[in-house]
Amino acid sequence: MTADLTVTDVRLTPVLVSDPPLLNTQGVHQPYAARLIVEVVTAGGTTGFGETYGDTKYLDVARPLAEALPGRQVTDLNGLFTLAGSVKIDAARVEGTADAGGQRGVQTADKLRLSVVSAFEVACLDALGKARELPVHALLGHKVRDRVEYSAYLFYRWARHPGGRGGTDDWGAARDPAGIVAQARRFARDHGFRSFKLKGGVYEPAEEIAAVRALAEALPDAPLRLDPNGAWSVPTSLDVAEQLRDVLEYLEDPTTGTSGMARVASRSGIPLATNMCVTTFPEIPEAFATGAVQVVLSDHHYWGGLLRTRELAAVCRTFGVGVSMHSNTHLGISLAAMTHVAATVPNLDHACDSHYPWQSEDVLSRRLTFREGCLDVSDAPGLGVEVDREKLAVLHRRWLEDDGTMRDRDDAAAMRRADPGWVTPAVPRW
Ligand SMILES: [Mg+2]
Repeated sequence: MTADLTVTDVRLTPVLVSDPPLLNTQGVHQPYAARLIVEVVTAGGTTGFGETYGDTKYLDVARPLAEALPGRQVTDLNGLFTLAGSVKIDAARVEGTADAGGQRGVQTADKLRLSVVSAFEVACLDALGKARELPVHALLGHKVRDRVEYSAYLFYRWARHPGGRGGTDDWGAARDPAGIVAQARRFARDHGFRSFKLKGGVYEPAEEIAAVRALAEALPDAPLRLDPNGAWSVPTSLDVAEQLRDVLEYLEDPTTGTSGMARVASRSGIPLATNMCVTTFPEIPEAFATGAVQVVLSDHHYWGGLLRTRELAAVCRTFGVGVSMHSNTHLGISLAAMTHVAATVPNLDHACDSHYPWQSEDVLSRRLTFREGCLDVSDAPGLGVEVDREKLAVLHRRWLEDDGTMRDRDDAAAMRRADPGWVTPAVPRW
């Protein structure tokens, strides 16, 4: 008998997840990061899970979408976009605010909708896969590889959050080349990572160049990346590229805007990657026509799900542009979704980013484990992960009890707890 795939219920559970004091050009990660867990329940008794950003503006879109879904089929993934399109968003409250990654000035109502749809799409695919006893990758055309490689994500960081809030860990501070190299060695030892990305834009370029040089010396032949989140001018970007040309796999978003990226790309002779100037389909034509980016960092949250991620990969393949994967703070549900879609993209030529090793908490019964820097692609039905209800309840309780300061990402506000005079730096910062 065929299971009934009609959606009967959708549950939304916002959670707060412990996050270390990782530094970036905007400020520092808050002690807790908000995520939204989406559950789609079918008449056949299957529950599928998805995950996305949990800030208030995402919840405001997710709630009406959740109310509209019952009665529809989990196979109707295209219908999710139509439903989300009818959700009213006060554009004035959204346009120009920080986007999901804490970057400024790039959020739009459409991008917000897509990030919410992504969690519903993944939950529907998880439910469908469980009902059909097929892994999600099989629903996307089947895996073309058995494991997906990830890159270590290195951060300048403090030992603790200011003011004593939040969890603690034993990583200590990393504020110079030696600290970054020690972090890389620990990631390599604990997870087997073979490629390394440093989040830059925190210190003066000379300091970050020294850190990448130290990494190249400590880890010869390892692919290295540096991502200052657009903190540099075009001349500064060209200067950094010149000094690191021989050791970088690619330079990620050295400067903001497609035209600036195009000027850097044409003169630097080093591949540029982005998760800032190409985050939607309408941004692709100009960026590709001007040669502004050589690698697009896909992100199934930004792009509206796993099917859209495959569409993006097809466009990149058509134009000879590389594909890799971007990450913001996330839990195991999203990591499983990333791994399934990454396994189906033939032209995924670079190791994917993931913050997951920094997250000490998860809603999964069993955390996903990297071996040799890779995750095995699950062949179990759906995403192949099991959610622990008690863990979910604990993290939801933290969200319920929060005084409102942690529910919306604000890295500059977190920085002001240590440095009251901190203002978000103007771009370019250097
Ligand atoms: Mg980036």
